[in-house]
Amino acid sequence: MSDCLFCAVVRGDIPADVVLRTDRILAFRDIDPKAPVHVLVIPIDHHPDVPAAALADPALGADLLQAAAEVAAAEGVVDSGYRLVANTGSDGGQTVHHAHLHVLGGRGLTWPPG
Ligand code: AMP
Ligand code: ZN
Repeated sequence: MSDCLFCAVVRGDIPADVVLRTDRILAFRDIDPKAPVHVLVIPIDHHPDVPAAALADPALGADLLQAAAEVAAAEGVVDSGYRLVANTGSDGGQTVHHAHLHVLGGRGLTWPPG
């Protein structure tokens, strides 16, 4: 989608600190990190949010989780633990309406979220 921020990242129109790229998935560091490790995992194709992506293409849902696990391993947070977040819709606090998983780690994360 031409007016989508993360589609612009996929096209390379907006620079990103990319940590993983496959034919279906892109992962890059969040521009405003909320933890020492904060990576966004997105599908190359535009979907409005993670559940919508998984409903439209179940294999893509699995690809997103697999990529998140690979990012966590590459970032060294598997043993210490980490959090996967998919903010969805207005009450979910979603601000960018291109599906993305947050991979957060490197410090103790509070629960419940605000
Ligand atoms: P959400 O609020 O779940 O929709 O998350 C959107 C995330 O995108 C936020 O954590 C932002 O800091 C992040 N973000 C916005 N613009 C960029 C960008 N150009 N590069 C990397 N991360 C971004
Ligand atoms: Zn998009």
